[in-house]
Amino acid sequence: MIARRIDACRACGGAQLDAIVDLGATPLANRLLAREELAEPEPRVPLVLVFCPACSLVQITETVAPEILFREYFYFSSFSNELLEHSRAHAEELRARRRLGPSSLVVEVASNDGYLLRWFVEAGVPVLGVEPARNIAEVANQRGVRTVAEFFGLEQARALKLEGYAADVLLGNNVLAHVADLGGFVAGAAELITDDGIVEFEFPYVGDLIDRVEFDTIYHEHLCYFSAHAIERLFARHGLVLTDVRRLPIHGGSLRVTGARRAEPEGRARAEALLDEERRRGLDRFAYYASLAGRVDGLKRELTALLEQLRNDGRRVAAYGASAKGSTLLNCFGIGAPLVEYVVDRSTVKQGRFTPGTHLPIFAPERLVEDRPDYALLLTWNFADEILRQQAEYRRLGGRFIVPVPEVRVVEPL
Ligand code: ZN
Repeated sequence: MIARRIDACRACGGAQLDAIVDLGATPLANRLLAREELAEPEPRVPLVLVFCPACSLVQITETVAPEILFREYFYFSSFSNELLEHSRAHAEELRARRRLGPSSLVVEVASNDGYLLRWFVEAGVPVLGVEPARNIAEVANQRGVRTVAEFFGLEQARALKLEGYAADVLLGNNVLAHVADLGGFVAGAAELITDDGIVEFEFPYVGDLIDRVEFDTIYHEHLCYFSAHAIERLFARHGLVLTDVRRLPIHGGSLRVTGARRAEPEGRARAEALLDEERRRGLDRFAYYASLAGRVDGLKRELTALLEQLRNDGRRVAAYGASAKGSTLLNCFGIGAPLVEYVVDRSTVKQGRFTPGTHLPIFAPERLVEDRPDYALLLTWNFADEILRQQAEYRRLGGRFIVPVPEVRVVEPL
């Protein structure tokens, strides 16, 4: 059995879970296939989003074993320029705000290839990365970012503390949503920081997911979808105060939340402002989330109608971005060959493989210019500006992009 269904809320243990949307049984979104795997059966797991009325946490009902999901992970952070710039700015800001220097320690959980910690290393601030994917941890170490290949939880935090580690800053970017043992993870983070240390987590904001119909950010790696309400209650259970919140544009809209043992007035005022806004808009109640299912259906009808029309008109369509969200979109909407012929992606480790479920071949982005399909369906719409700039030549040659989210939009050639 590769997946297990929860019978209670992942954060508070509440027994009532209200269904928001059922996206069907989908293949694992990052499980790209080698050619010899195409004939083998692919695991499919139900993808159902639910709401906990007790603590307002939005979550999916199935937990796929992390060993299956994360041991060989294809997402190398450093492949996106926008992400690199975002990380550099974040590191610089933290270094100044927390006055970090040679005697400080910055720990990052799920540190990937060291894309964020490298900026601290360059500035002479000691770091420790904790990264479960062995192949990626190895890359980080080769680049001079000290990294241990482990999953993170209370037990690991205690072991690190015994080894003498104490974090002035503990970072977790786009990891909290992935954690099956949410309580153990936050307890571990609280354990590993110094008395006046902070934890800082970034994750996609569930308010943006709902408002912008970003349903394709739902896949099995993402177990939870947080509001400020949900995170405040989660922190409180582990002795942390929500002491700052910032909204960020990255990944279709994210939150950066800070937790500490004591609140700091300026940051806390920002947190309270967002909590107030959430109450006004109803993010602490089920009705706000319930509209998602109908809007996903509308998007599906619109996008498949466009692709079928293009097919009938003899137009050729490729896709850009062999991403996990692309996998959700293609599989939930039932879009594959012949509506879309192939996918291009900048990541060299993805090229030569095939997309989960839909089995579209993955090529390098240069293929768009060489092959000149009439349209490219943009599956990584969260990096739309960057990709449209990079693909100027294809667009000058007459190529059009289809942006599927939050509404279907065609970007005309240059
Ligand atoms: Zn709950």
